[in-house]
Amino acid sequence: MQPLQPLRDEIDKVDRELLGLLEKRLSLVAEVGQVKHQHGLPVYAPEREAEMLAARRQEAEKMGISPDLIEDLLRRIMRESYQNEHKNGFKTVNPAIKKIVIVGGKGKLGGLFGRYFQLSGYQVENLGRTDWQRADQILYDADVVIVTVPIRNTLETIERLQPHLRENMLLLDFTSVKRQPVEKMLQVHQGAVLGLHPMFGPDIASFAKQLIVRCDGRYPERYQWILQQMQLWGATVYAIDPAEHDKNMTYIQALRHFATFANGLHLSRQPVELSKLLALSSPIYRLELAMIGRLFAQDGELYADIILDKPENLAVIESLKQSYEEALCFFEQNDRAGFTQAFKQVSDWFGNYSEVFMKESRQLLQQANDYKQF
Ligand code: NAD
Repeated sequence: MQPLQPLRDEIDKVDRELLGLLEKRLSLVAEVGQVKHQHGLPVYAPEREAEMLAARRQEAEKMGISPDLIEDLLRRIMRESYQNEHKNGFKTVNPAIKKIVIVGGKGKLGGLFGRYFQLSGYQVENLGRTDWQRADQILYDADVVIVTVPIRNTLETIERLQPHLRENMLLLDFTSVKRQPVEKMLQVHQGAVLGLHPMFGPDIASFAKQLIVRCDGRYPERYQWILQQMQLWGATVYAIDPAEHDKNMTYIQALRHFATFANGLHLSRQPVELSKLLALSSPIYRLELAMIGRLFAQDGELYADIILDKPENLAVIESLKQSYEEALCFFEQNDRAGFTQAFKQVSDWFGNYSEVFMKESRQLLQQANDYKQF
């Protein structure tokens, strides 16, 4: 090791210089955060981010440094910065709002949004499972009522709110399904109605780049402010019709959660040890295990609700079983030609996205490999 020592010392010195530069950059970003807070600017500015990355990539290339390396580093540094931006709080987009009541506000998702509304200067109150006797008092001066209870309790909870709602209130929900809750809210409430579906779990470190799906109910002009508030936090809002939302969620949520559950169930019954599989895994297998294992670290009731939420989900899951059987036939019958033909058909279906997915997954796999420890 002796001949390497002087070079290693130099590398340590450069790393320390990098640390110093990083500290300087993070404190500049903290100042940017304060200015954004004062002026009510969103945490995530996509154009600025894209321009900055393109410029650094070009500069890196001129210096003979890999542009991908610089982009990776900067993206990781920016993620750190986004995670710190809530520390300054956020501008109150609608100071006229006296109170936001979150029904189920002590739950995982309700808790997260409650914290962000408070960080944005709103008074937030929870209406929990055992608070209904005091519902009149809690809801009396509310301007916004948010329903975020387990899916199976959502419709009855919306109904239960009816006697407490006034026309000037905004009623909204965060349920992972949208058609029935939006219909029910429109039925029980004459004022503004909005259905939202946050496409993330309660453990996010920042709202930056997180997607919130929006299903308009009634009087959209009365709730633009709340969407703007979420955009200030860094979220992106995507509007869709509730039925169209639910159709797509059958694939994005129900089918995927079912397949992950079935994979976990199958694996847990096999004569293999998880520690052995991990020790021998390639980066892609490790990622796959992480995605399966992650499901089982969460609430089984939520996933049962999502999978069981409508008969269409079961019909699509049933067709997955059929695809498994058809796929198995190729191998049982040694039908190599049939397999390659079906393979080509799927490849055509993915079209140009295949290339995009290849690139994205390569980055994920490299990261998974970086974090591996022996
Ligand atoms: P959770 O179980 O953590 O929280 C639900 C809360 O509602 C609990 O505090 C519970 O006591 C309360 N509650 C139950 N019945 C109630 C009632 N009748 N009145 C008042 N409070 C009642 O669940 P969660 O994960 O926060 O999910 C809540 C909603 O958010 C669900 O509709 C779910 O579809 C949606 N959602 C969840 C996630 C997620 O990843 N957790 C993501 C997107 C959307």
